[in-house]
Amino acid sequence: MKNKKFDLVVIGAGSGGVRAARTAAKLGARVAIIEERYLGGTCVNVGCVPKKVMVYASEFKETFELAHGYGWEASKPEFNWPSLRENIEGLLGRLNNIYKDLLDDSGVETFWGTGRLTGSNTIRVTKSDVENVKTEAADIDIEADKIILATGGWPNKGKFEGAELCVTSNEIFSLEQFPKSILILGGGYIAAEFSCIFNGLGSEVHLVFRKDGILKSFDDDVTRHVMSEMDAAGVNMHANTGVEKIEKKGGRLQVTLLDGSVIEVDQVLAAIGRHPKLEGLGLEHTVVVREPTGHVEVDRTFQTNEPSIYAIGDIVGNLDLTPVALNEGMYLARHLFEEGFDLREIEYDKVATAIFTQPNIGVLGMTESDATEAFGEVSVYESSFRPLKTAFASSEARSYMKIIVRDSDEHVVGMHIACPDAGEIMQGFSALFQRGITKTELDRTIGIHPTIAEELVTMRDKRS
Ligand code: NDP
Repeated sequence: MKNKKFDLVVIGAGSGGVRAARTAAKLGARVAIIEERYLGGTCVNVGCVPKKVMVYASEFKETFELAHGYGWEASKPEFNWPSLRENIEGLLGRLNNIYKDLLDDSGVETFWGTGRLTGSNTIRVTKSDVENVKTEAADIDIEADKIILATGGWPNKGKFEGAELCVTSNEIFSLEQFPKSILILGGGYIAAEFSCIFNGLGSEVHLVFRKDGILKSFDDDVTRHVMSEMDAAGVNMHANTGVEKIEKKGGRLQVTLLDGSVIEVDQVLAAIGRHPKLEGLGLEHTVVVREPTGHVEVDRTFQTNEPSIYAIGDIVGNLDLTPVALNEGMYLARHLFEEGFDLREIEYDKVATAIFTQPNIGVLGMTESDATEAFGEVSVYESSFRPLKTAFASSEARSYMKIIVRDSDEHVVGMHIACPDAGEIMQGFSALFQRGITKTELDRTIGIHPTIAEELVTMRDKRS
């Protein structure tokens, strides 16, 4: 057993962990990072990156349909899943190598294996149980002045009969066979995005959710609009129900829903939330406290109850988003190792998000109901329109936009859009939103014509 000593040890080489390790190393700290699975975490390997690639793949269906209206004649295109899967694998391999180079170049020492806390300043690295991961030959004990926990989240499993027959977002990118039909359980980000992805790629999709709508934390008008577009595009919605049991039937899966209906599909994807991945981390050897939700309790400097141990990203649960974890990792590393650095608080309520459904959703700030509750009087501006690009399309697909303005000072407190490239549009507006923007300032802005985004600066009529 070898012994090593560092200023900082990070457990978990996902987005937040890698950023914290690199930033600290660049500031002169002796840094190690421990990882048992892959570099880049969920985002790179089984999350944002492969998901976005599959979103692009699925959008070609509409592009091929539109192309005809623009005069392009082409024979019926066919989707080849093994070809896309191999390309995704290649991309992820390249990204893992880039992450490795980034860590090496910044002087961070990487330990492959499972890191477990054995005390407030000590960690043991043991062989990883993950298949195909080449880990350290022998157990290693590491001493650390400071430790950052950045182990991320893990998909929840269902508790119904046959739940083991479901795949989660961890397996969905490497399916052997492309499912001609799929049932997706859940009404959150992952369920909504994958319903659109598989629908676009040609599967028969059944989306099963236990409330009357999906994406319940989003603005009601936006989710209503997106649900109606998904319905029109062919996604079969099963509201107010869940899965009672799943049984194997021949090579397929027979799913009995709580409302008694039975659906036969090739695959079931459970997308029913994620939990902080903390099992086996050795927290019992410390005084780190967990919240009732399972998240690690931290103060505004990401310090846990154990003064030498910090936590960032999905295990803290401020917002389970890659850019948030990146920022938390960077701010924390600077707070720990950069003299005079003022750890300004991340303004979580000003973080823009996008959901890559079809149409995409972009969100900034409060929903109409939250704004009304918080401020009383608000004005709502909205617009529903057909984007010019679909002028020759047979479908009636529309875009929807909504701005919520606080009456007392005219400040924009919410922007919600459901349209192509919503994420790209929202990224621009989020910079303005950071410093605060009024409706008058939006009105003074001259639009770029003809674009979808110009609609946000040309809305004049309040909803009556
Ligand atoms: P979410 O928390 O978004 O949604 C979970 C969904 O599952 C909810 O609809 C919930 O219903 C439902 N649910 C929970 N338990 C059960 C159950 N036992 N039976 C049936 N339904 C259940 O989780 P996701 O897994 O979709 O995504 C996890 C996180 O990953 C997101 O919160 C987000 O932060 C991140 N993410 C972000 C993306 C992006 O930025 N584009 C994309 C993908 C993920 P109910 O509402 O009734 O509780």
